[in-house]
Formats: sequence, structure tokens, C-alpha cells
Amino acid sequence: MSSSEFGTDGVPLSWYNICADLGFALPSDLSSSQSTKTADRLRIPMSLLRQERSRARWIPIPEDVVDKYRQWRPTPLRRARALEDALETSCRLYYKYEGGNVSGSHKLNTAVAQAYFYRRAGRRRLTVGTGAGQWGTAIAAACAMFGLDCRVFMVRSSYEAKPHRKTMMELFGAEVVPSPSGSTEYGRRSLASGSDTGGSLGVALAEAVEDGMAPHSAFCAGSGETYALLHQSVIGLETHMQLEELEDRADVVVGSLGAGSNLGGIALPFLGSSLRGGPKLRVVSVEPAACPKLTRGRYAYDYTDASETSPLQKMYTLGHAFAPPTMHAAGLRYHGTSKLISALYARNYLEAVAYPQKAVFESAEIFARAEGIIPAPESAHAIHGARLIAAAADRNGDPRTIVICLSGHGLLDLGAYDAFHSGEMTDVDVSDEQIESSLAALPARRFRER
Ligand SMILES: *Cc1c(COP(=O)(O)O)cnc(C)c1O
Repeated sequence: MSSSEFGTDGVPLSWYNICADLGFALPSDLSSSQSTKTADRLRIPMSLLRQERSRARWIPIPEDVVDKYRQWRPTPLRRARALEDALETSCRLYYKYEGGNVSGSHKLNTAVAQAYFYRRAGRRRLTVGTGAGQWGTAIAAACAMFGLDCRVFMVRSSYEAKPHRKTMMELFGAEVVPSPSGSTEYGRRSLASGSDTGGSLGVALAEAVEDGMAPHSAFCAGSGETYALLHQSVIGLETHMQLEELEDRADVVVGSLGAGSNLGGIALPFLGSSLRGGPKLRVVSVEPAACPKLTRGRYAYDYTDASETSPLQKMYTLGHAFAPPTMHAAGLRYHGTSKLISALYARNYLEAVAYPQKAVFESAEIFARAEGIIPAPESAHAIHGARLIAAAADRNGDPRTIVICLSGHGLLDLGAYDAFHSGEMTDVDVSDEQIESSLAALPARRFRER
């Protein structure tokens, strides 16, 4: 197949795998004896592992998954004319809106696929750890679609701060447990130690891994795996075709960066087409100044989790011990970056910028008033990036077509907007010393190739 296929309704029928068009292989993961044990215990279905290693350009989407996608795909690509007016720009701005599904973010694109493959591998119950709650919500919704039971370990401090996330997950039939909990050995130990009662993502994940070892169960890793980026390619495939229908062409694609799945999802199909001789374009990653892994981190082998149980991946990282300051775009508070996005950044296929949160919220407010959608604080980073790119293009007298990935809505993040309005929001600085000291704790290279 030389190009992507779509159903008559515009829903993609295959995922795009950029590894087919790269002239290099991704660095292998390394494993410690601990992480080999973990990998064996995780029971990731072979189907997902095969996708991760595949060199095929197009991977057919199972019919059952396409059927679920049809509930909310294709998602709208809209010209942001009111925003263009508000910014007084001559650039053409578009946004691809991924917040219109029941989970409120792009994460459902991979959650549905993962639930399907776990189910087909014979699992009856999935366990996950969630921080702010977006991944837990997406998995809970996906489990409901495929008749799987679901238990979500949610960091206790956000369980208390964001009660409506819990309501949503329970609505989909998931059981939501504040972590640390009494239901796992890891949780009980953590409770007994008396420290850390507000919990952390590391503890929630460890509890979910332990609980995932129960019969017919599996721990469902997360949204930043290479196969998750593959599933997210539906975003960019649709955008590419929608722009063609509008007889326009992207000069710049902008996305926020947490692990890299929404940026990869929208950008990699465009990048692939340019690698195959199509038009060149700029891909811009926008991360928070409080968690600046591409702009200030190091390209090195590191754990993907704070508890040092995962295999090591080569990625841009601030160190797995890095504790990002508290800020409102909780979905971007991850110390590392997907290895695929990292490898592309190392080879200059993409650009990266970082901005403080108050400036980001200012752009979010302009967007909300102009376009009538309250963006997720994560997505607001992409909006702010696009605003500055447009301003620079205007100054150069060279108006561009800029596409924003609007990865989710912010209707469950109104507390953050309150903090912005009341003036309580502050910008949090990360010092060079803090980054240096967490990078000093990177694992030494004494691990085996997997
Ligand atoms: C989780 C999340 C992100 C960041 O994760 P990526 O894997 O980098 O996409 C961005 N936007 C929203 C709305 C999210 O929920």
C-alpha cells in the first residue's frame, strides 16, 4: 500500500508507522535483572509488541477498533478565523480537536486499541495507575467498550483534588482506588512508612503492576509507548486529508509534549510524507518551562518510571528522580520523552520550545473567547506556541499555515483557570542545579540489550 486508506466516512483504516520511512533504527532498550522480571510480569500482548517492532508502513486497524473510532472520528479540523482576528495575524491557523470524545482527550485513541488487544489476548481485567486522571478516564471508557473490568489506582492527592475524574471513571464501571491503598502489598508498605500519604505516580504505577498480576488481569502501561504513538497516527492522517480537501498545506505543526503521543500522532504522518519526497514542514514541540526535557534534558538511557523497575529507554530525560514543580498542566509533568520523539529530535527533525504557565494560560483565554472551546492546560501549550510562531512569521512578512493539536478540553481543569484569574498562579522556575543533580542520578551503562 502506498498511501493511507480511509473509510467512506473519513475514518482511517490503517495506522501509519514512521519506522518504515526512517533510515535508522531506534536504540534498543536495555534491561536490568529487575526490569526483565517486570517485563515478564507485565504480560504485554504479543500483538502490541509486534507493532512496536514492525517495519511495515501501514498497519491495518482491527475492524472492531475502527467501529469504536466511528463514535467520535473523524475529529474536526477547524480554521481558527476568530483567533486569527484576535491575534491580528496574517497566518492561517487551524486546530485539530481531540477533546470531543467521552474521555475528553486524544488518549482514547490508543486506550481503545490497547483494550482491544488485551481482550483478544484473553485478559478480562486491566489495572492502571493515573496521576491527573486522563489516562485512567480513557482506559476506563475503553474497558467499558470491550467488556473488561478495570481498576484505576489514582494518586491520592489528585483523587481528593479532582473528584469529578473519579465520578467519570466510575460511570464507566471502573473501580477507582486512591493510592497508596491497602489493597496491595506495595501500597500497604507505603502507608506503613507514613511518608508520602498524598501518593505519587510512581507508587500508583507500582500498585497497578502488582494488582495486574492477579488471574486474567494485566497492567496497562500507558500512553507514551511506541505502539501508542502508532495508534495516535489517526490524528495526523485525518488532518493531512482534511487539509487536502481544503486545498491548503501545513507549514508548521505544533503540539504539547508530555510523553509525545499527541505531538507524534499529529506530526509523524506529515513528517513521513515529507521523508517520502512530499513538502517539507516544521514540527514544533511545546513543553512547560517547569518540566523542560527536550530543551534542557539529556539524551541518555533512563528508566521510564521513578521506581526503577521499567526497562531503560534512550530518551531525552531530566532524570527519573526529577520532581517537577507543581503546575496546572499535570499531563506534561513527565521526566522523559517517548524514544521515537527523542530520536527524531536528536536528528533535528523537530524543534522544541518551553514556556512558563502564566503566558500559556493567557493564550488559552484568548483561544477560549475566540473559538468557544476551553482548552486543556496541556493543549494550551500548543496554542501559545502557535501564537508566537504566527507573530514571528508576521514580523518576517512570511505568513504561514499553522496546525495546532488541540489534544483535549479543559472543562475538568476550571480550578486552574480560577488560579489564573485570581492572580494566584505563579510561574515556577527550575534551576540548573536541580536538573544537574537529578541527571547525576542517571543509571550507569551496565545493562544488557533486550
Ligand atoms: C496526557 C495529555 C497530554 C500529554 O501527553 P502526550 O503523550 O505528550 O500527548 C497532552 N494533552 C492532554 C489533553 C493530555 O491528556
